[in-house]
Amino acid sequence: MKSRFFTSEKIMDNVTMIAGLAGELCYLVEGREKALLVDGLSGAGSLKAFVRELTDMPVELVLTHSHPDHMGAAFEYGRCFIHPDDIPGLYEAGDAERRYDFVRAGAKDFTLRMEDVIPCAPVRTLPVRDGYIFDLGGRSLEVIAVPGHTWGHIVLLDRSARAVYSGDAVNCNTLMFLGGTSIEEYRESLLHLQSFESAYDVLWGGHGGVSVPKRIVPEAIGLCEEIMAGTDQKAPGEFMGRTAFYAREKDEAFRRYDGGIANIAYSTDRIWKNQVPRP
Ligand SMILES: [Zn+2]
Repeated sequence: MKSRFFTSEKIMDNVTMIAGLAGELCYLVEGREKALLVDGLSGAGSLKAFVRELTDMPVELVLTHSHPDHMGAAFEYGRCFIHPDDIPGLYEAGDAERRYDFVRAGAKDFTLRMEDVIPCAPVRTLPVRDGYIFDLGGRSLEVIAVPGHTWGHIVLLDRSARAVYSGDAVNCNTLMFLGGTSIEEYRESLLHLQSFESAYDVLWGGHGGVSVPKRIVPEAIGLCEEIMAGTDQKAPGEFMGRTAFYAREKDEAFRRYDGGIANIAYSTDRIWKNQVPRP
């Protein structure tokens, strides 16, 4: 399905991937009784209205983390599940101008106006932590906490689809220099995610449009260890006007030259736990 603001594609049984104008992604997962919307895109256009066209079931919204490109629909639904550590981010990063700027920077065919962006509104936050289970009727999704990219980042394990909806937790351009935990703490989070590896084969993230094989997780753990040992490639890079090191050299499209998938953008003052106190 396609609208002015969104494109949807069925990727598995009862799972629909929805892309926003800047390619940011969310997932509508349907059980027998209700549906879970994993992430809320940037709020450019009404995601709630688009989702209504896709399912008649009651829909709950859960945010993997509270960055501007993942939270927009929270202001339409008026409630969302979120890890307590990411609730402040809803207020810090949620203003409509920031979400508009994100889409403006990322959209190729750009016709968006400020009045197309869902304005901020009160949101009832329902806290979820590691181990919380969403029962959708005949299908359950399990919360795995993966603090790293943000302090309250979670991913959702869908055992029936052998998939993880992973937000920005681990990908080819994992941003670890704009906030979130140290690399040391991120490594521990990835080891926790890795402990579930017998239950999933692929990860569907917040960007990119395709699933990534689960080997990305051990790869990223290896990169954290190299960063901590000072043996990574330290490729200079820039993202969103800020400079960072990439653990591995890559091209403009974030493809690694050595065939690996994972990459981490970091700064040297955010490697160790004692450099990055918990907020
Ligand atoms: Zn993010």
